[in-house]
Amino acid sequence: MEITRPTSLADALQARGADPGADLLAGGTDLMVEVNFGYARPEHVISLRRIEELARIEDGRIGAGVTWARLEKSRHRALAQLSRTVGSPQIRAAGTIGGNIGTSSPAGDGLPWLAAADAEIEVASEARGTRRVPWSDFFTGVKSNSLESDEVIVAAVVPDGVPENQEFAKIGQRSAMVISTVAACVMRHEDGSVRVALGSVAPTPVRAYRAEQLIADNPSPSAAVLDEFARTVSEEVSPITDHRSTEAYRRHAAGVLSRRLLERCLAR
Ligand SMILES: Cc1cc2nc3c(=O)[nH]c(=O)nc-3n(C[C@H](O)[C@H](O)[C@H](O)COP(=O)(O)OP(=O)(O)OC[C@H]3O[C@@H](n4cnc5c(N)ncnc54)[C@H](O)[C@@H]3O)c2cc1C
Repeated sequence: MEITRPTSLADALQARGADPGADLLAGGTDLMVEVNFGYARPEHVISLRRIEELARIEDGRIGAGVTWARLEKSRHRALAQLSRTVGSPQIRAAGTIGGNIGTSSPAGDGLPWLAAADAEIEVASEARGTRRVPWSDFFTGVKSNSLESDEVIVAAVVPDGVPENQEFAKIGQRSAMVISTVAACVMRHEDGSVRVALGSVAPTPVRAYRAEQLIADNPSPSAAVLDEFARTVSEEVSPITDHRSTEAYRRHAAGVLSRRLLERCLAR
């Protein structure tokens, strides 16, 4: 196996452009699992770990190479909360937000936050330069996305106006080191309107836009409106039954979890 270790983004883009079949490696916490199980047999790996440009956190921009360990201290409350739930300290020390985006698993815990934040994914290639893709266009299906074979994910771009009042939680089969059965992120603006995003309940992260509208119309929701909110979230998701859970449980849990997070936001 050939390994290329660029130390700049420009060199990484050059290497990727020269061999679009090569596998990109960040923390390796998804890719090496594939290798260990024999599902992936990379012939050429481009390691992104030495690229300082990818590891930067700037105002409104989170580099693809930023690890969960660093994001545990994010100023975005829900991003810090979800980062603390990813795997174990060892996984969080190696795993990156860019790798989570790159894998595009329905259960990727970073994805509901990106959806709630209305983030864009910044990608770049040597041939065409940089482009920004809205999260809703980037994630296209189960473990699939719109990244071209010569592109590298550079950053998650977080727009201005993301509410400070935000909450994340996930449900799994046990309380730690667990793949989400349902994950949810709720953000509440000062005017009372909300953003509600969910993971593990559809092929891609989803927003519950009808439930959001319900709260925009009822910014100080009564118990009856909160019940309707939970019901609406349950209706808006499209989960499947698999070895981790059933469609019915996921649907129910999506509503319960979203309501719980909204109540936490309302209590602030
Ligand atoms: C024990 C264990 C527990 C885990 N727990 C969780 C959990 O609780 N929640 C969760 O969401 N995930 C979990 N994961 C999955 C994994 O840790 C995360 O998805 C992590 O964010 C992957 O990041 P990475 O840097 O290790 O990615 P890598 O394995 O390096 O890469 C993953 C994929 O993304 C591509 N990629 C990486 N960086 C880029 C880039 N800059 N541009 C383009 N493509 C890129 C790679 O080519 C590969 O296809 C767990 C994994 C393990 C092994």
